[in-house]
Amino acid sequence: ISTYDLEKIRADFPILKLKINGKPLVYFDSAASGQMPQTIIDRLAYYQTAQHANINRGVYYLSEVATSEFEGARCKLQHFINARESREVIFTSGTTDAINLVMHGYGRKFIKAGDEIILTMLEHHSNIVPWQMLAEEVGAKIRVVPINDAGELLIDEYEKLFNERTKFVSLIHVSNALGTINPVKQMIAFARQHEIPVLVDGAQAAPHMKVDVQDLDCDFYTFSAHKLCGPTGVGILYGKAALLEAMQPFKGGGDMISSVTFEKTTYNTIPHKFEAGTPPIAAAIGFGAAVDYLSTIGMDTIYSHETDLLNYATERINDLPGVHIIGTASSKTAILSFVIDGIHPHDIGTLLDQDGIAIRTGHHCTQPVMQRFKIPATSRASFAFFNNKTEIDALIASIRTVQKFFS
Ligand code: PMP
Repeated sequence: ISTYDLEKIRADFPILKLKINGKPLVYFDSAASGQMPQTIIDRLAYYQTAQHANINRGVYYLSEVATSEFEGARCKLQHFINARESREVIFTSGTTDAINLVMHGYGRKFIKAGDEIILTMLEHHSNIVPWQMLAEEVGAKIRVVPINDAGELLIDEYEKLFNERTKFVSLIHVSNALGTINPVKQMIAFARQHEIPVLVDGAQAAPHMKVDVQDLDCDFYTFSAHKLCGPTGVGILYGKAALLEAMQPFKGGGDMISSVTFEKTTYNTIPHKFEAGTPPIAAAIGFGAAVDYLSTIGMDTIYSHETDLLNYATERINDLPGVHIIGTASSKTAILSFVIDGIHPHDIGTLLDQDGIAIRTGHHCTQPVMQRFKIPATSRASFAFFNNKTEIDALIASIRTVQKFFS
């Protein structure tokens, strides 16, 4: 992104005009939640001002408008990930909700005692805990793909985990703790040879790179709007139509039914079967606007700008004595986790905040990754397409000040 275009993009984000502790905000926590450009704030306001009503079944004008905008957002998401059909896109409340949907809808129906589920050591807790709950309930077993010291999955070990008891694979596309981009296409192809369905947690991939679910050939793919310039409270689950049709519903209620009597209820067709109750209508429409905004900039442009920022920040951090990057995979996105000798990450985060720099510190909902590196926590700076090198220079200067303070 040229300096000129980057300035224009930065001007889209009102929050970047904030001063924090008297310093310009440097927002390096997009991996936790992204910021929202004015156009999406405006889209949400317009919806609430002039288009809001409950969707489906309404025979009056506003309900028809809201329904058509909501379904239009579904189509925008379909095209964003190149799904075959819009009914393969289910609105959920986010990634966590989507994984729980698959656990209940697929797992509780098809996974039985003695079966095995393959996960990786890099998973976010939201792709561990639901499967553990299922494993406990039905007597299934979790198998875990290990990582090397760079934070890369050991693909040989992954392939060795497959046997006749394997029933499901759930993989993180990009590690939120380390930034590693996993070779999910290759891993899906291997699972496909064994006819095992694969879910991909794309929460940290979709904001940074082009995702094509047909090219990946995954069975399920999920991500949250709030990490892609959209609002909180909404995300999607993509699923292949045949699988979604074979699954049982997750939540019961209005809209997910075809008919209800006290004797028997029949369920609606997909995607409605999985969208019980009033969905996050406004948020889904905002999500649609968000993927339009990102597509205007271009996911490839975003990826290359963020890679440039990551490389620059990596070089500068490596120049600092006593600072160590955790996660040195050869293929990474814009996430930089580090530790500083003798200083607790929470102290680093608190002191950087004094300089207006927002980073995340902690275990990043990936305690197994922390255990693997024998650390309690890291400091994590995560970059978005609106960040620039001046902000990285500010981060480096602030880290030096922290080190001086503790020396
Ligand atoms: N998976 C990954 C890789 C994530 O980074 C996150 C968010 N930190 C989640 C899942 C959960 O997303 P949400 O909280 O939006 O449900």
